[in-house]
Amino acid sequence: MSEDFYDVLGVSSDASTEEIKQAYREKATEYHPDVSDDPNAEEKFKKIQKAKQVLTDEEKRQAYDRMGHDRYEQAEKHGFDAGESGAGDPFGGMGGGGMGGGLGDIFEQVFGGGGGRGRRRPRKGRDLRTELEIDLEEAYEGVEKQFSVERPEECDNCGGAGHPPDADARTCPECQGRGQVTQVQQTPLGRVQQTTPCRRCEGEGTLYSERCSECRGEGYVRNEATLTVEVPAGIQDGQTLRMEGEGAPSPEGGRHGDLLIDIAVREHEEFEREGDDLRYRLPISFPQATFGDTVEVPTLDGAAEFEIPKGTQSGETFRLEGKGMPRLRGRGSGDLYVQVQVVTPESLNEEQREALEAFAEAGGDEIEVTEGFFEKIKRAF
Ligand SMILES: [Zn+2]
Ligand SMILES: [Zn+2]
Repeated sequence: MSEDFYDVLGVSSDASTEEIKQAYREKATEYHPDVSDDPNAEEKFKKIQKAKQVLTDEEKRQAYDRMGHDRYEQAEKHGFDAGESGAGDPFGGMGGGGMGGGLGDIFEQVFGGGGGRGRRRPRKGRDLRTELEIDLEEAYEGVEKQFSVERPEECDNCGGAGHPPDADARTCPECQGRGQVTQVQQTPLGRVQQTTPCRRCEGEGTLYSERCSECRGEGYVRNEATLTVEVPAGIQDGQTLRMEGEGAPSPEGGRHGDLLIDIAVREHEEFEREGDDLRYRLPISFPQATFGDTVEVPTLDGAAEFEIPKGTQSGETFRLEGKGMPRLRGRGSGDLYVQVQVVTPESLNEEQREALEAFAEAGGDEIEVTEGFFEKIKRAF
Protein backbone atom coordinates (compact mmCIF):
# COMPACT_ATOMS: atom_id res chain seq x y z
CA MET A 1 0.00 0.00 0.00
CA SER A 2 1.45 3.34 -1.01
CA GLU A 3 1.62 5.98 1.68
CA ASP A 4 -0.22 8.64 -0.26
CA PHE A 5 -3.66 9.18 1.26
CA TYR A 6 -5.40 9.12 -2.11
CA ASP A 7 -3.71 5.83 -2.97
CA VAL A 8 -4.49 4.40 0.43
CA LEU A 9 -8.20 4.89 -0.22
CA GLY A 10 -7.89 4.13 -3.92
CA VAL A 11 -9.47 7.38 -5.09
CA SER A 12 -8.30 10.03 -7.52
CA SER A 13 -7.00 13.34 -6.25
CA ASP A 14 -10.15 15.12 -7.41
CA ALA A 15 -12.54 12.71 -5.70
CA SER A 16 -15.51 14.25 -3.92
CA THR A 17 -15.93 13.95 -0.16
CA GLU A 18 -18.76 11.49 -0.76
CA GLU A 19 -16.54 9.31 -2.92
CA ILE A 20 -13.83 9.42 -0.29
CA LYS A 21 -16.26 8.38 2.43
CA GLN A 22 -17.58 5.56 0.31
CA ALA A 23 -14.05 4.32 -0.45
CA TYR A 24 -13.26 4.56 3.24
CA ARG A 25 -16.24 2.43 4.22
CA GLU A 26 -15.18 -0.31 1.85
CA LYS A 27 -11.55 -0.30 2.90
CA ALA A 28 -12.37 -0.02 6.57
CA THR A 29 -14.54 -3.10 6.39
CA GLU A 30 -11.77 -5.02 4.68
CA TYR A 31 -9.00 -4.12 7.08
CA HIS A 32 -10.72 -3.73 10.37
CA PRO A 33 -8.16 -5.08 12.87
CA ASP A 34 -10.71 -6.85 14.99
CA VAL A 35 -11.65 -8.90 12.05
CA SER A 36 -9.10 -8.94 9.30
CA ASP A 37 -6.72 -11.86 8.87
CA ASP A 38 -4.16 -9.66 7.22
CA PRO A 39 -1.09 -9.61 9.49
CA ASN A 40 -0.68 -5.90 8.77
CA ALA A 41 -4.35 -5.13 9.16
CA GLU A 42 -3.93 -2.83 12.11
CA GLU A 43 -1.32 -0.73 10.39
CA LYS A 44 -3.33 -0.61 7.19
CA PHE A 45 -6.50 0.23 9.03
CA LYS A 46 -4.78 3.10 10.77
CA LYS A 47 -3.57 4.44 7.45
CA ILE A 48 -7.06 4.18 6.04
CA GLN A 49 -8.53 6.04 9.00
CA LYS A 50 -5.85 8.65 8.80
CA ALA A 51 -6.35 9.16 5.08
CA LYS A 52 -10.09 9.58 5.55
CA GLN A 53 -9.64 11.92 8.46
CA VAL A 54 -7.45 14.25 6.45
CA LEU A 55 -9.19 14.03 3.10
CA THR A 56 -12.70 14.61 4.45
CA ASP A 57 -11.65 17.72 6.33
CA GLU A 58 -11.57 20.52 3.83
CA GLU A 59 -8.92 22.53 5.61
CA LYS A 60 -6.67 19.56 6.17
CA ARG A 61 -7.12 18.35 2.64
CA GLN A 62 -6.09 21.70 1.24
CA ALA A 63 -2.98 21.67 3.40
CA TYR A 64 -2.25 18.13 2.31
CA ASP A 65 -2.62 18.94 -1.36
CA ARG A 66 -0.44 21.97 -0.94
CA MET A 67 2.36 20.34 1.03
CA GLY A 68 2.45 16.84 -0.33
CA HIS A 69 2.43 13.69 1.72
CA ASP A 70 5.80 13.66 3.46
CA ARG A 71 5.87 17.24 4.55
CA TYR A 72 2.30 17.10 5.72
CA GLU A 73 2.90 13.99 7.80
CA GLN A 74 5.97 15.44 9.37
CA ALA A 75 4.35 18.75 10.08
CA GLU A 76 1.26 17.20 11.56
CA LYS A 77 3.15 14.82 13.79
CA HIS A 78 4.59 17.79 15.60
CA GLY A 79 1.45 19.71 16.24
CA PHE A 80 1.46 21.63 13.02
CA ASP A 81 -2.32 21.81 12.95
CA ALA A 82 -2.46 24.66 15.38
CA GLY A 83 0.29 26.59 13.62
CA GLU A 84 -1.24 26.16 10.23
CA SER A 85 -4.69 27.38 11.19
CA GLY A 86 -3.24 30.26 13.14
CA ALA A 87 -5.03 29.18 16.31
CA GLY A 88 -1.90 29.53 18.35
CA ASP A 89 1.79 28.97 18.09
CA PRO A 90 2.66 25.55 19.40
CA PHE A 91 6.30 26.56 19.63
CA GLY A 92 5.73 29.68 21.62
CA GLY A 93 9.06 30.79 22.98
CA MET A 94 11.03 28.22 21.06
CA GLY A 95 12.19 30.51 18.35
CA GLY A 96 10.01 28.84 15.77
CA GLY A 97 9.79 31.97 13.67
CA GLY A 98 12.54 33.22 11.48
CA MET A 99 14.42 29.98 11.19
CA GLY A 100 13.75 29.73 7.50
CA GLY A 101 13.89 26.65 5.35
CA GLY A 102 10.23 25.75 5.58
CA LEU A 103 8.22 24.07 8.26
CA GLY A 104 9.75 20.66 7.83
CA ASP A 105 13.18 21.99 8.60
CA ILE A 106 12.01 23.86 11.63
CA PHE A 107 10.46 20.74 13.03
CA GLU A 108 13.64 18.89 12.42
CA GLN A 109 15.66 21.44 14.29
CA VAL A 110 13.29 21.78 17.18
CA PHE A 111 12.43 18.15 17.66
CA GLY A 112 15.48 16.39 16.36
CA GLY A 113 13.64 14.97 13.40
CA GLY A 114 11.78 12.37 15.42
CA GLY A 115 14.50 9.83 14.80
CA GLY A 116 15.16 9.36 18.47
CA ARG A 117 18.33 11.42 18.35
CA GLY A 118 17.00 14.51 20.01
CA ARG A 119 14.66 15.00 22.88
CA ARG A 120 12.32 12.43 24.25
CA ARG A 121 9.01 12.20 22.51
CA PRO A 122 6.23 13.81 24.55
CA ARG A 123 3.95 11.31 26.21
CA LYS A 124 0.76 10.45 24.37
CA GLY A 125 -2.57 11.45 25.92
CA ARG A 126 -4.76 8.95 27.72
CA ASP A 127 -6.98 6.53 25.83
CA LEU A 128 -10.65 7.01 26.62
CA ARG A 129 -13.40 4.47 26.43
CA THR A 130 -17.06 4.68 25.61
CA GLU A 131 -19.88 2.35 24.68
CA LEU A 132 -22.08 2.50 21.63
CA GLU A 133 -25.27 0.56 21.19
CA ILE A 134 -26.50 -0.43 17.75
CA ASP A 135 -29.30 -2.55 16.35
CA LEU A 136 -28.79 -5.88 14.69
CA GLU A 137 -29.93 -4.28 11.44
CA GLU A 138 -27.17 -1.72 11.77
CA ALA A 139 -24.61 -4.43 12.47
CA TYR A 140 -25.88 -6.14 9.34
CA GLU A 141 -25.59 -3.13 7.07
CA GLY A 142 -22.70 -1.30 8.65
CA VAL A 143 -23.51 2.18 9.84
CA GLU A 144 -22.09 5.62 10.23
CA LYS A 145 -23.03 6.48 13.78
CA GLN A 146 -23.00 9.82 15.50
CA PHE A 147 -22.48 9.85 19.24
CA SER A 148 -21.45 12.15 22.02
CA VAL A 149 -18.66 11.64 24.45
CA GLU A 150 -17.54 13.81 27.31
CA ARG A 151 -13.81 14.19 27.26
CA PRO A 152 -11.05 16.57 28.25
CA GLU A 153 -10.14 18.90 25.43
CA GLU A 154 -7.49 21.50 25.17
CA CYS A 155 -8.79 24.81 26.51
CA ASP A 156 -9.52 27.10 23.60
CA ASN A 157 -9.04 30.17 25.67
CA CYS A 158 -5.40 29.58 26.56
CA GLY A 159 -4.45 26.98 23.96
CA GLY A 160 -3.73 24.51 26.74
CA ALA A 161 -1.14 26.65 28.47
CA GLY A 162 -3.32 27.32 31.52
CA HIS A 163 -2.57 31.04 31.56
CA PRO A 164 -3.17 34.01 29.27
CA PRO A 165 -0.38 34.42 26.72
CA ASP A 166 0.55 37.81 28.13
CA ALA A 167 0.73 36.68 31.74
CA ASP A 168 3.98 37.51 33.47
CA ALA A 169 6.14 34.51 34.14
CA ARG A 170 8.57 34.13 36.97
CA THR A 171 10.66 31.30 38.19
CA CYS A 172 8.99 29.31 40.91
CA PRO A 173 10.73 30.21 44.17
CA GLU A 174 9.73 26.95 45.79
CA CYS A 175 11.75 24.76 43.43
CA GLN A 176 13.95 27.37 41.78
CA GLY A 177 12.47 26.43 38.43
CA ARG A 178 13.39 22.76 38.64
CA GLY A 179 9.77 21.65 38.88
CA GLN A 180 10.58 19.21 41.67
CA VAL A 181 11.52 19.46 45.27
CA THR A 182 13.76 17.18 47.23
CA GLN A 183 13.00 16.63 50.86
CA VAL A 184 15.42 15.09 53.23
CA GLN A 185 13.98 13.51 56.32
CA GLN A 186 15.76 12.24 59.34
CA THR A 187 14.30 8.90 60.36
CA PRO A 188 15.39 6.29 62.86
CA LEU A 189 16.77 4.35 59.93
CA GLY A 190 18.81 7.20 58.63
CA ARG A 191 18.34 9.99 56.14
CA VAL A 192 15.63 9.46 53.55
CA GLN A 193 15.62 11.61 50.45
CA GLN A 194 12.43 12.02 48.51
CA THR A 195 11.87 13.91 45.29
CA THR A 196 8.35 14.98 44.36
CA PRO A 197 6.88 17.34 41.77
CA CYS A 198 6.72 20.88 43.09
CA ARG A 199 3.24 21.59 44.38
CA ARG A 200 3.42 25.30 44.03
CA CYS A 201 4.05 25.33 40.26
CA GLU A 202 2.67 21.84 39.64
CA GLY A 203 5.96 20.71 38.23
CA GLU A 204 6.25 23.44 35.64
CA GLY A 205 9.01 25.42 37.28
CA THR A 206 7.30 28.66 36.34
CA LEU A 207 4.60 30.70 37.99
CA TYR A 208 2.31 32.97 36.05
CA SER A 209 0.76 36.17 37.25
CA GLU A 210 -2.65 35.06 36.01
CA ARG A 211 -4.51 31.85 35.47
CA CYS A 212 -6.73 31.16 32.52
CA SER A 213 -10.27 31.92 33.68
CA GLU A 214 -11.79 29.27 31.44
CA CYS A 215 -9.87 26.24 32.69
CA ARG A 216 -8.57 27.64 35.99
CA GLY A 217 -5.04 26.83 34.96
CA GLU A 218 -5.65 23.20 34.04
CA GLY A 219 -5.02 23.73 30.34
CA TYR A 220 -8.01 21.62 29.43
CA VAL A 221 -11.73 21.62 29.94
CA ARG A 222 -14.33 18.87 29.80
CA ASN A 223 -16.37 19.12 26.67
CA GLU A 224 -19.08 17.11 25.10
CA ALA A 225 -17.80 16.18 21.68
CA THR A 226 -19.98 14.85 18.90
CA LEU A 227 -18.15 12.31 16.80
CA THR A 228 -18.98 10.05 13.93
CA VAL A 229 -17.71 6.51 13.77
CA GLU A 230 -17.83 4.08 10.91
CA VAL A 231 -19.17 0.80 12.27
CA PRO A 232 -18.29 -1.95 9.81
CA ALA A 233 -20.92 -4.43 8.66
CA GLY A 234 -20.78 -7.71 10.56
CA ILE A 235 -19.50 -6.26 13.83
CA GLN A 236 -20.22 -8.42 16.84
CA ASP A 237 -21.44 -7.52 20.26
CA GLY A 238 -18.46 -6.78 22.51
CA GLN A 239 -16.00 -5.85 19.79
CA THR A 240 -14.09 -2.62 20.13
CA LEU A 241 -13.41 0.08 17.58
CA ARG A 242 -10.56 2.50 17.95
CA MET A 243 -10.67 6.13 16.86
CA GLU A 244 -7.15 7.31 16.72
CA GLY A 245 -6.38 10.70 18.23
CA GLU A 246 -9.88 11.20 19.71
CA GLY A 247 -8.81 10.49 23.28
CA ALA A 248 -7.46 12.85 25.90
CA PRO A 249 -4.91 15.50 24.97
CA SER A 250 -1.34 14.90 26.03
CA PRO A 251 -0.27 17.01 28.99
CA GLU A 252 3.13 17.27 27.35
CA GLY A 253 1.92 18.47 23.98
CA GLY A 254 2.26 15.06 22.36
CA ARG A 255 -0.28 13.10 20.40
CA HIS A 256 -3.79 12.71 21.69
CA GLY A 257 -4.81 9.37 23.06
CA ASP A 258 -7.30 7.20 21.25
CA LEU A 259 -10.99 6.68 21.85
CA LEU A 260 -12.00 3.06 22.26
CA ILE A 261 -15.60 2.30 21.45
CA ASP A 262 -17.10 -0.88 22.83
CA ILE A 263 -19.89 -1.96 20.56
CA ALA A 264 -23.03 -3.42 22.06
CA VAL A 265 -25.46 -4.99 19.61
CA ARG A 266 -29.05 -4.96 20.88
CA GLU A 267 -30.95 -8.19 20.88
CA HIS A 268 -33.40 -8.63 18.07
CA GLU A 269 -37.04 -9.61 18.44
CA GLU A 270 -37.00 -12.18 15.70
CA PHE A 271 -33.44 -13.30 15.22
CA GLU A 272 -30.98 -14.85 17.56
CA ARG A 273 -27.38 -14.37 16.61
CA GLU A 274 -24.66 -16.97 16.97
CA GLY A 275 -21.45 -15.55 15.56
CA ASP A 276 -22.14 -14.91 11.89
CA ASP A 277 -25.23 -17.13 11.86
CA LEU A 278 -28.78 -16.21 12.69
CA ARG A 279 -31.54 -18.34 14.11
CA TYR A 280 -35.21 -17.89 13.43
CA ARG A 281 -38.18 -19.83 14.75
CA LEU A 282 -40.92 -20.42 12.23
CA PRO A 283 -44.35 -21.52 13.45
CA ILE A 284 -46.14 -23.77 10.95
CA SER A 285 -49.36 -25.72 11.02
CA PHE A 286 -49.73 -29.47 11.12
CA PRO A 287 -51.01 -29.62 7.51
CA GLN A 288 -48.06 -27.50 6.35
CA ALA A 289 -45.68 -29.87 8.09
CA THR A 290 -47.46 -32.84 6.57
CA PHE A 291 -47.96 -31.67 2.98
CA GLY A 292 -45.11 -29.20 2.69
CA ASP A 293 -45.57 -25.57 1.70
CA THR A 294 -43.78 -22.55 0.32
CA VAL A 295 -43.70 -19.69 2.79
CA GLU A 296 -41.86 -16.45 3.31
CA VAL A 297 -39.41 -16.09 6.14
CA PRO A 298 -37.99 -12.75 7.21
CA THR A 299 -34.27 -12.12 6.79
CA LEU A 300 -32.32 -8.96 7.54
CA ASP A 301 -32.29 -8.45 3.79
CA GLY A 302 -36.04 -8.68 3.28
CA ALA A 303 -38.30 -11.70 2.98
CA ALA A 304 -36.94 -14.94 1.51
CA GLU A 305 -38.85 -17.86 0.08
CA PHE A 306 -38.62 -21.01 2.11
CA GLU A 307 -39.83 -24.42 1.13
CA ILE A 308 -41.16 -26.56 3.94
CA PRO A 309 -40.56 -30.14 2.84
CA LYS A 310 -43.29 -32.77 3.13
CA GLY A 311 -43.21 -34.62 6.40
CA THR A 312 -41.34 -32.01 8.36
CA GLN A 313 -41.04 -32.73 12.08
CA SER A 314 -41.55 -30.07 14.68
CA GLY A 315 -38.17 -28.78 15.85
CA GLU A 316 -36.39 -29.60 12.59
CA THR A 317 -33.87 -27.00 11.48
CA PHE A 318 -33.16 -25.88 7.95
CA ARG A 319 -30.27 -23.81 6.72
CA LEU A 320 -30.64 -20.85 4.37
CA GLU A 321 -27.15 -20.39 3.12
CA GLY A 322 -25.69 -16.90 3.11
CA LYS A 323 -28.74 -15.33 4.76
CA GLY A 324 -26.97 -14.70 8.06
CA MET A 325 -24.73 -11.81 9.09
CA PRO A 326 -22.02 -10.54 6.77
CA ARG A 327 -18.56 -11.61 7.85
CA LEU A 328 -16.38 -8.74 8.96
CA ARG A 329 -13.45 -9.94 6.94
CA GLY A 330 -15.47 -9.32 3.84
CA ARG A 331 -15.76 -12.98 2.91
CA GLY A 332 -19.40 -13.73 2.38
CA SER A 333 -22.01 -14.18 5.05
CA GLY A 334 -23.11 -16.62 7.68
CA ASP A 335 -26.28 -18.67 7.37
CA LEU A 336 -29.82 -18.35 8.59
CA TYR A 337 -31.09 -21.38 10.48
CA VAL A 338 -34.84 -21.76 10.38
CA GLN A 339 -36.24 -23.95 13.08
CA VAL A 340 -39.82 -24.95 12.43
CA GLN A 341 -42.28 -25.37 15.20
CA VAL A 342 -45.49 -27.19 14.51
CA VAL A 343 -48.18 -25.29 16.33
CA THR A 344 -50.97 -27.28 17.86
CA PRO A 345 -54.26 -25.41 17.57
CA GLU A 346 -55.75 -24.37 20.86
CA SER A 347 -59.28 -24.28 19.53
CA LEU A 348 -61.00 -25.81 16.53
CA ASN A 349 -64.25 -25.07 14.78
CA GLU A 350 -66.78 -27.83 14.31
CA GLU A 351 -65.59 -28.76 10.86
CA GLN A 352 -61.99 -28.95 11.89
CA ARG A 353 -62.83 -31.01 14.90
CA GLU A 354 -64.75 -33.55 12.84
CA ALA A 355 -62.02 -33.76 10.25
CA LEU A 356 -59.39 -34.30 12.88
CA GLU A 357 -61.44 -36.98 14.63
CA ALA A 358 -61.93 -38.69 11.31
CA PHE A 359 -58.20 -38.43 10.71
CA ALA A 360 -57.43 -40.04 14.03
CA GLU A 361 -59.92 -42.82 13.50
CA ALA A 362 -58.62 -43.52 10.01
CA GLY A 363 -55.24 -44.04 11.61
CA GLY A 364 -56.73 -46.57 14.01
CA ASP A 365 -56.56 -44.36 17.08
CA GLU A 366 -59.36 -44.51 19.56
CA ILE A 367 -59.94 -40.99 20.72
CA GLU A 368 -62.19 -40.27 23.59
CA VAL A 369 -63.13 -36.66 23.29
CA THR A 370 -62.64 -35.43 26.79
CA GLU A 371 -60.56 -32.65 28.25
CA GLY A 372 -57.43 -34.57 27.43
CA PHE A 373 -58.25 -34.53 23.74
CA PHE A 374 -55.54 -32.20 22.53
CA GLU A 375 -52.89 -33.85 24.63
CA LYS A 376 -53.71 -37.15 22.94
CA ILE A 377 -53.73 -35.63 19.50
CA LYS A 378 -50.33 -34.18 20.15
CA ARG A 379 -48.96 -37.54 21.20
CA ALA A 380 -50.50 -39.18 18.16
CA PHE A 381 -48.58 -36.87 15.87
ZN1 LIG B 1 -7.44 27.78 29.67
ZN1 LIG C 1 7.93 25.03 41.73
